[in-house]
Amino acid sequence: MRLTKLREALTTEGLDAILITQPGNRRYLSGFTGTDLDRDSAGVLLISQDQAVLAADSRYYEQIEKQAPDFRLAKITDEFKMLLPELVHQVGAKRVGFESTHLTVDQHQEWQEVAEGFELVPTKELVEGIRAIKDEDELSKIRKAIALADEALAHIAGFIEPGMTEKEVAWELEVFVRTHGAEKVAFDLIVASGPNGAMPHATVSERVIRAGEPIVIDLGAMVDGYNSDLTRTICSGRPDDRLKEIYDIVLEAQCTAEQSIRPGMTGKQADGIARQVIEEAGYGENFGHGLGHGVGLAVHEKPGVGRLSEDVLEPGTVFTVEPGIYLPGWGGVRIEDIVVMREDGVEVLTQASKDVSSQ
Ligand code: ZN
Ligand code: ZN
Repeated sequence: MRLTKLREALTTEGLDAILITQPGNRRYLSGFTGTDLDRDSAGVLLISQDQAVLAADSRYYEQIEKQAPDFRLAKITDEFKMLLPELVHQVGAKRVGFESTHLTVDQHQEWQEVAEGFELVPTKELVEGIRAIKDEDELSKIRKAIALADEALAHIAGFIEPGMTEKEVAWELEVFVRTHGAEKVAFDLIVASGPNGAMPHATVSERVIRAGEPIVIDLGAMVDGYNSDLTRTICSGRPDDRLKEIYDIVLEAQCTAEQSIRPGMTGKQADGIARQVIEEAGYGENFGHGLGHGVGLAVHEKPGVGRLSEDVLEPGTVFTVEPGIYLPGWGGVRIEDIVVMREDGVEVLTQASKDVSSQ
């Protein structure tokens, strides 16, 4: 199915074949996971209308036999570029696409040097476009990753106490995720307390958490290669009035978006729904990032759900809805769910509590 869709895209683009190097795309199409230590050089796919080849060196022969039985293994004994002309010749291709957003300038130059009798043609996000629409098997993996993040959040809400540092909290969170079924955390977790929360991508510091201040916690788990992404803003003790005010605006923006987004809207239109709520409350300037992003094998993938995104939110797309308000010197509030687009609107997959007070 995935290869069929890609082959249709090749026809549309006027290509005879395509070389796939991007690790997530390689995995999506072939099943071959490569390795975390050496993801980028673990193997290259060459896909034409009637052939599917995976070129890799001896470190991966056995793994590929197990994971990618539908692909013919082309053994790299020297360097991939030495094999490239022969492979392209075997599949009979003249116009051969490559992933221009992934291939390095050096790699491209090397390939170009051996490209005799065929042409290398840059392509942009052909596989990413196909990946944006998830099948049921992918959805069930994403649901597992989401459920694990939800559990971790519930755990940490009961764990946080004033006097702990952000690092202590982040470590507890990471241990929970890694000991409850995740391959790993999906990204460097964020625990941003008080003023640190004003930076949407704050990291974790030694700052000591105080009662009543906002704590932005952004975490994700990877299960079977698929990621989740969850943000909640909580506070230890009672939230002060300002936190309550800001929290309610962000929550309203999120709920309005989740209730109003419809299939066929662009990312830009979806973003606009939440943005309008925040602008009308007077905090438009303080919502600097986009409303969301696709999630799957990558934490950030298609469709884009931001101010400039023309990506269409089709049924089967999975993306985050994560409005935020950030006030320098005070802190931030962000609330992030993952949703799947259905025929009549979005289904919210995230179940984590939206109660701002952790105790
Ligand atoms: Zn997040
Ligand atoms: Zn996110």
